[in-house]
Amino acid sequence: MAVYRRGGDASHLIHRALFALQHRGQEAAGIVTAGDDGEVQHLRSRGLVADALPTYRVKELTGTSGIGHVRYSTVTMDRTENIQPFIASVPYGRFAIAHNGNLKNADALRELLEYEGALLSTTMDTELIVHLIARSGAPDLRAALKYTASRIEGAYSLTMLCDGKLYALRDPHGIRPLVLGELDDGYVIASETCALNIAGAKFIREILPGELVEIGPDGVKAEQLLEAAPTPAPCVFELVYFARPDSNVFGQVVHSARTRMGEELAREDHGLEADMIVPIPDSGFPAALGYSRASGIPLEKAIIRSHYIGRTFILPDQDSRTHSLHLKLSVIRELVEGKRVVLLDDSIVRGNTSRLIVEMVRDAGAKEVHMRIASPALGWPCYLGIDTPNREELIINRHPDIDSIAKELGADSLHYLSLEGLKKATNQKPFCFGCMTGKYPV
Ligand code: SF4
Repeated sequence: MAVYRRGGDASHLIHRALFALQHRGQEAAGIVTAGDDGEVQHLRSRGLVADALPTYRVKELTGTSGIGHVRYSTVTMDRTENIQPFIASVPYGRFAIAHNGNLKNADALRELLEYEGALLSTTMDTELIVHLIARSGAPDLRAALKYTASRIEGAYSLTMLCDGKLYALRDPHGIRPLVLGELDDGYVIASETCALNIAGAKFIREILPGELVEIGPDGVKAEQLLEAAPTPAPCVFELVYFARPDSNVFGQVVHSARTRMGEELAREDHGLEADMIVPIPDSGFPAALGYSRASGIPLEKAIIRSHYIGRTFILPDQDSRTHSLHLKLSVIRELVEGKRVVLLDDSIVRGNTSRLIVEMVRDAGAKEVHMRIASPALGWPCYLGIDTPNREELIINRHPDIDSIAKELGADSLHYLSLEGLKKATNQKPFCFGCMTGKYPV
């Protein structure tokens, strides 16, 4: 995310916005700011925003513009030098960049750059972008970005800082979200509108696929740097799981989209007899609400989540995910004892989390436990910025049919939302459904 102000420091607004974006990455956080002289200051560390970026240190970061990032490692290993924003000197000045997404041709670019003598110090795709910019030979940063964008393929929503100006660039398919908001004295760019709200900015619009936005003393300049793909392909998994429910992502309120997914699921699944719909906190709640409304089965928040433990899906290994889940969730025995319970979740990846939750609900005395998933089965990995595992680890690929998956989960039955149902729930707009269909936009 990024902030530009005509007066006043940018750092505290970036800090606030990073709290709102915490769900997008919990391993590390960073802020880089620049004064009008273009000199950069930075604070980057491992951990949650509150620990990695303590307020008294953030106050030391002066300057009217800056960018920030919360890190969620995908294909790269977690290393301190991978914490973003990434800072470098390029021919156009001191430069900082924060990247959301993954490059599909990163391996080939890395090999080529190393062959040409580039000294790469991280395992991040982001560093490849910086090297391409620095080596472009272009007369200015805009031309260097155009050259770089012609060499990279995949998902990228970038915010950049150079010479005190902000830049934002989104890939031609618009795979990862990126929005522009306005402050009384400047602008904010962020992955989600929840960050604009907390920074006190008014939502203006999405940054378009292939669009470059430059923000400086002369205001906002926008141009179509790259031709947009004929069909946009924003990531549907942002609406299913990743984005915060109070955000508006790709023109849809996330909470409402998830509620519609639950309604569609209930329509496809009609006839199920149960005493209660229990959302798996927190991301299963809107879909459970939709399922309950459409089916008439009462909603009961019988699983309680401790809000002091982070999201389990985006922790980097299974051991930390299992440990964290037991600390995080508990079942209200008095509500589920002797009851036919429908557990509602947004998605299943490996199935380990779902199996543990089914076990917890049975241990609390439920008579029947049915599992309902408000998205289609995930059968393929994501190469575009979400850390889903390889095909063999995905539960759907380890079983011949749905009943066999239900058995592994310990559930009495299992039903997924169909792809058609997901399309209806997301208003029949074009999306990337790659992890559900194996067909990727790039
Ligand atoms: S493959 Fe799935 S997670 Fe990855 S961008 Fe496409 S929809 Fe999103």
